[in-house]
Amino acid sequence: MVYDLGGNVELNIIDTHVHLQDFTSENVKDVIISSHGVGIEKFICVSAKSEDWSKIEKLIHKYPKKILPAFGIHPWYAKDGKKNWSGELENMLKKYPEALVGETGLDGYKDPDGQIEVFERQLFLAHKYNRPIIIHCVKSQNWFENNWRLLPEKFVFHSYNGKKEFLKEITAHNGYVSFSFSVLQNKELAELVNLVPIHKILLETDSPYQSFEKNRDNEPALLPFLVKEIAKIRGMPLNEFSRQIYNNSLEFIKVG
Ligand SMILES: [Zn+2]
Repeated sequence: MVYDLGGNVELNIIDTHVHLQDFTSENVKDVIISSHGVGIEKFICVSAKSEDWSKIEKLIHKYPKKILPAFGIHPWYAKDGKKNWSGELENMLKKYPEALVGETGLDGYKDPDGQIEVFERQLFLAHKYNRPIIIHCVKSQNWFENNWRLLPEKFVFHSYNGKKEFLKEITAHNGYVSFSFSVLQNKELAELVNLVPIHKILLETDSPYQSFEKNRDNEPALLPFLVKEIAKIRGMPLNEFSRQIYNNSLEFIKVG
């Protein structure tokens, strides 16, 4: 399906949250080609469990210019980690000096057992190697409100569609906020977009997850439509807005 962005718009954008390893391997190639065609320059390829790390490594070798890896353990998998996951994660961060940490975080809907410990260990490593961190936060505001000092210099709350008040706290602590299609579900959520300083906004698809159209898989090639919608909400020309978001992404991934 071809979407019309309207006018002569050339975008250059980074999808800051994609689980490329979760597409089927034949699919990944198509996903990369079609996203290239609409101006997606790069992906932050995000892991959820330690088994993902070697899959992402393979993708890096195949598409070195396209993929920036994020290695971490998602709170849903906090208990499934191998015994030495932390040592392995540290090795990955040493091996890939540009890698981020994530996705990690806390999820109040899931078994809390081990979540905080696994998250705090990743925060420690993000500090030690001075890497940005990608945070999944669901029903876990409390922990953050008491522990902002544990976060590394650069952090992003991904696919944000939570409370206004907490969003203000994130930005007061100099955090980035990433929006996915989920923020377009209703008017009230869309308003969140206006509460973040323009230089702290990132955009993502979280594909292949968070499909927003029935019978259609989410994929990075759809990101331009999110860029367009958010630009509208911010009242900015599309070109200017996408340039800003691109620069924000570069600033976020810059290590050191
Ligand atoms: Zn994700």
